[in-house]
Formats: sequence, structure tokens, C-alpha cells
Amino acid sequence: MKAYIGLGSNVGTRQTNCLHAIELMSRAGMLVTAQSRMYETKAWGVVNQSDFINMCVEIEIPLTPFQLLEELQAIEIQMGRHKSYKWGPREIDLDILFCGEQIIDEERLKIPHPYAHLREFVLEPLAEIAPEFVHPLIGKTIVQMLRRLQTP
Ligand code: ADP
Ligand code: MG
Repeated sequence: MKAYIGLGSNVGTRQTNCLHAIELMSRAGMLVTAQSRMYETKAWGVVNQSDFINMCVEIEIPLTPFQLLEELQAIEIQMGRHKSYKWGPREIDLDILFCGEQIIDEERLKIPHPYAHLREFVLEPLAEIAPEFVHPLIGKTIVQMLRRLQTP
């Protein structure tokens, strides 16, 4: 199954954190098939914290979405992510944006990620690696959603 992961870091050596997370993902058996550039973005939701580095990767996995979530959370913890408040500072944040066409709506796991279509720092890197991917709930491509967000 093809999945898209959004990476974010705003603590420590942010670029290195992202690259390290990708390395750990591939060591956990995820085949990384595409990766975007890194973008520097202002912290979103909660102000007064350092800017983030954000990027997206495409992976091919033999896992269910819940297994994927567990693997990604293990990497977050392994990379020293401390318990922090929602949208607070973090060494690495790994969000599942899409898992093929799957739709999951549980507290523990929501796919597509509920904010994916509202965040330029998600859509811009995604547009590099999956411009024509169609949001399974909204029915629009990544590029269409990005344009809609950027249109004043
Ligand atoms: P955020 O990414 O919103 O800043 P966290 O990374 O702390 O917040 O995640 C909070 C919880 O969100 C996690 O414990 C996880 O179970 C849940 N969650 C729900 N949907 C997803 C998803 N698509 N990807 C990652 N985590 C998710
Ligand atoms: Mg997260």
C-alpha cells in the first residue's frame, strides 16, 4: 500500500532530524519511494515557538494503517520526542496524511489527516511528489487543493 507521511521538526538540528526519521522508517521496512524538499514554516496553531522544517515522503508498506501508526510513534519516541502539548515543539512529528484510498475516523487514527487539505506546509511538499493524488473525501487533487488555499 502507498502512504504519504508528513514530517515536521522544530527542536534541535531540524534537517538532520527529518533525515534520521526517514532512515529509521526505511530500517523499519518502509520503502521510501519519493521524498520532497524541506520547507521552513512558521509554527502553526500555537505561536511563540521556533519555526518548523516540514517535508513529505511517499512510502510503500506491507502494514495496516494502525501498524504504520505504531511504527511511526515508536520512531518519534526513539528520537526523543518528549510528551508535549498539542502542536507544541517537537524533535520529530510523523503524521500519516494518506493511506491509499482508505478512510479511517477514530480518535487514535484519522485518515486522511483532518488538516492535510488546510495546510500549505503539507500540500506544497506533497505537490512535488504526488501532484495528482486525489483526496479520497474531498475529491480534489493535491495541486487543486493547494491552489485553492493560495488563492486570496
Ligand atoms: P499533532 O500531530 O496534531 O500535533 P500529535 O503528533 O501529538 O499531534 O498526535 C496526537 C495523536 O493524534 C496521536 O496520539 C495519534 O494517535 C493521533 N492521530 C490521529 N490521526 C493521526 C494521523 N493521521 N497521523 C498521526 N497521528 C494521528
Ligand atoms: Mg502528529
